[in-house]
Amino acid sequence: MKTFDVDLFVIGAGSGGVRAARVAASHGARVAIAERSRVGGTCVVRGCVPKKLFVYASRVNQVLSDAAAFGWQLGESRFDWPTLLGNKNVEIARLEGLYRSGLAQAGVALVEGHATIDGPNTILIRGTLERIRAKRILVATGGSPNRDLDIPGIGYAIDSNDVFELGNLPPRALIIGGGYIAIEFAGLLHGLGVKTSLVHRGAKLLRGFDSDIQIELERAYRRRGIDLRLAETVSRIDRADDVLRVALSSGLCVDVEAVILAAGRRPNTRDLGLEAIGVKLGSTGAIIVDATGQSSVPWLYAVGDVTNRVNLTPVAIREGQAFADRVFGKEHSRFNYRNIPTAIFSTPEVAVVGMSESEARLLCPELEIFRSSFTSLTSAMNPGTPRVNIKLLVDRTNDRVLGAQAIGEGAAEMIQLIAVALSAGVTKHDFDRTVALHPTIAEEWTTMHVSEKYSSTSV
Ligand code: NDP
Repeated sequence: MKTFDVDLFVIGAGSGGVRAARVAASHGARVAIAERSRVGGTCVVRGCVPKKLFVYASRVNQVLSDAAAFGWQLGESRFDWPTLLGNKNVEIARLEGLYRSGLAQAGVALVEGHATIDGPNTILIRGTLERIRAKRILVATGGSPNRDLDIPGIGYAIDSNDVFELGNLPPRALIIGGGYIAIEFAGLLHGLGVKTSLVHRGAKLLRGFDSDIQIELERAYRRRGIDLRLAETVSRIDRADDVLRVALSSGLCVDVEAVILAAGRRPNTRDLGLEAIGVKLGSTGAIIVDATGQSSVPWLYAVGDVTNRVNLTPVAIREGQAFADRVFGKEHSRFNYRNIPTAIFSTPEVAVVGMSESEARLLCPELEIFRSSFTSLTSAMNPGTPRVNIKLLVDRTNDRVLGAQAIGEGAAEMIQLIAVALSAGVTKHDFDRTVALHPTIAEEWTTMHVSEKYSSTSV
């Protein structure tokens, strides 16, 4: 008879892995989790959390420039990068401590080291050479920056992970990419005083997002003074002392102290022993799983970015929870991927939930679109501050809200709550009968009356 040391061995103590481990343990499973780096994973250590702290730091710049209009006369101000970095490190260490104590309290054994799969149901810890037999193995190793760009001199480029540890803030930086990370880092670095260029191969930022969002974001970034170079690529990077000379496809050269690669992320499936056990991987190396997280090898499961489905922390957490409940608990829930809200912490901020306008036009034969563009009170006395733009997409046949988008102050906070309403099947009438809370930015969602109507049957 087979005997196992643990019921579940999780590889990777990031958001998805930690949630799965703790929930499985709460259902009575014997659980161990391996982490080769810091507990907390990308989101806590080198992603969402430190990024948002940097975004807040970068927005102080705007508050300082708004201050005079509100009657404040401020003295000379100066930004100190080492102070921000140090305080960020203290906060991340605190969160890592919480993750560690959460695992310990749940009775999950933490193994610090690189785990590989060394045959059926077997884990090998590199270094200690400890072997652990596990009834089930969950891979939750996340992803890492794609550095696979065929550009001479690309080795000089750093990635988002490196920015979180930079000893000095570069005076000038050039970012490659036009997605989440490129846009967030361009916004925050510019706000911290870095002369920032962004080079993107596409003609529009944020491929796949609503076109109004793409247009407004581009306009706002250009107005802020961020050097956007769209429909351009980097041809080569040369180094002369501390300066990197970046040659672009247009023939132009840009001199900077840092080139930051933000050209997508790749699933971390290398060096885990997956090929040897015959797990099916996708073209980018992602573990292919079914709706329950099970891979082509029945005792091996995967959640989070390593599966390259919806690469967002809250999704990895939900996937980890659903896996643990289903396999070790009594519940047989499945995570519903509809109406996942997402935000880009640019300045101005972008947030969306549900369908974009182009999706809705394609899928909804009778569509009604409500738009509103307004100045928030924070910026009312500061001409030039970006307006807030919001949009609701409504199915005219049943009044159901299909999607909501916002760009501007408070976008992410508003869309999180609108996502609750969308999950509950909210109608436009529900928005209309809700009393406004005045004066707020969010009240505008309850007073949207002017619309454009589209009918695919009438064209
Ligand atoms: P994205 O997929 O958002 O963007 C990648 C960008 O790199 C795109 O603009 C893409 O262009 C470009 N690109 C890809 N390959 C190349 C190449 N060979 N040469 C030049 N450009 C290239 O990835 P990110 O790295 O920005 O973020 C990774 C993931 O992390 C995202 O999927 C997101 O879900 C998550 N994330 C979420 C955040 C949040 O919730 N706020 C914050 C940060 C990350 P093109 O569009 O033409 O393909």
